[in-house]
Amino acid sequence: METGAVDGGDSDGGDSDGGSDGGRDTADSSTRGWSSALQDVLQRWGLSHPATLTAARLAPVLETVRTQLVQRNVPNAIAAHLTAAVCRGLEGRAAPRGLHPTRALRRLVAVEMQTVLSQILSPKTSIDLLREMRRVQRSEQRPYTIVFVGVNGVGKSTNLAKVAFWLLHNGQRVLIAACDTFRSGAVEQLRVHVRNLSAMEGATIALFERGYGKDAAAIAKEAQAYAAAHGFDVVLIDTAGRMQDNQPLMKSLAKLVAVNQPDRVLFVGEALVGNAALDQLQKFNQALRDHVPAGVGGRGLAGATSAPVPRQIDGFILSKFDTVDDRVGTAISMTFTTGQPIYFVGTGQTYADLRRMNVKLIVRTLLQ
Ligand code: GDP
Repeated sequence: METGAVDGGDSDGGDSDGGSDGGRDTADSSTRGWSSALQDVLQRWGLSHPATLTAARLAPVLETVRTQLVQRNVPNAIAAHLTAAVCRGLEGRAAPRGLHPTRALRRLVAVEMQTVLSQILSPKTSIDLLREMRRVQRSEQRPYTIVFVGVNGVGKSTNLAKVAFWLLHNGQRVLIAACDTFRSGAVEQLRVHVRNLSAMEGATIALFERGYGKDAAAIAKEAQAYAAAHGFDVVLIDTAGRMQDNQPLMKSLAKLVAVNQPDRVLFVGEALVGNAALDQLQKFNQALRDHVPAGVGGRGLAGATSAPVPRQIDGFILSKFDTVDDRVGTAISMTFTTGQPIYFVGTGQTYADLRRMNVKLIVRTLLQ
């Protein structure tokens, strides 16, 4: 991990951002000598800068922070946007004075950046899934449904199984719907998870599957009906991994979501994906918006059928977070691009390796 790029590590005795003339004349009594010495003193005390912060004064410090964010996997465009926001927040404020003005300026920038990052990462709505599930189960007398989407190999099925494990621990009866009817082995992989999780004491979990090559949207619909008829509380729908540019597969995903109107569409994304996350998210959201099949109604608030409501990704599971070290910037890409929260962070390959996102830790890692 790099340190000291934003704060600390500088020797302020050498605050050089003011452009010292560097050449101290031998102490003769000429006017030039006195003026140079005075300039030195003024710069050392931060008195030669304007009284308020300007974009020009902030620029070198912001550039250091921007570079650091990019090194931590924040996409270039977003890093530039963040530093611009910090600049706007600080411009016009009193410029730091005193013995170490540059060090103080770095601190000011770091604190402002902390605020900007925390605002982006902090969920705008509740991410208490259990509470939301219980509310829906009670008031609408039906199972709660979550669809897991994402590109190939990101850890969709594994993290679906981790969510199932967490739900079982919380007394929920879980039906897993095998709607990846595309990749051979996908159904068997879920069967193994269900077998493992069934061994938990008191667990009620089952797999709903119809094999391969069938219409995934129809299987998900059947699974929901089955869950309602057999007393399951939650349906977790696994979908085929797909690249964001694969139009036929993106269309079929949009159909699955439109036909089934799940309570949540969770995007599973790899923590190390970096710049590519933007493209993935935008294209998944665009597909969900653009490919709502004609004549498909949504589930209205009271469960009634209403006009189709295009859905979007409701939130994220950030997988393989244990593999990124300090390159945690994808957390910012996902929340910044969509405004939606990170529900969970995958931190390993066992069922228990699922955590809530720690906003403070991510901000600290980005800025340390
Ligand atoms: P899918 O194709 O998206 O369903 O991906 P899988 O669930 O099959 O997972 C692909 C690989 O990623 C497997 O080897 C998983 O064990 C691994 N994996 C999933 N989540 C995590 C995680 O949070 N951390 C680590 N280190 N590996 C993970």
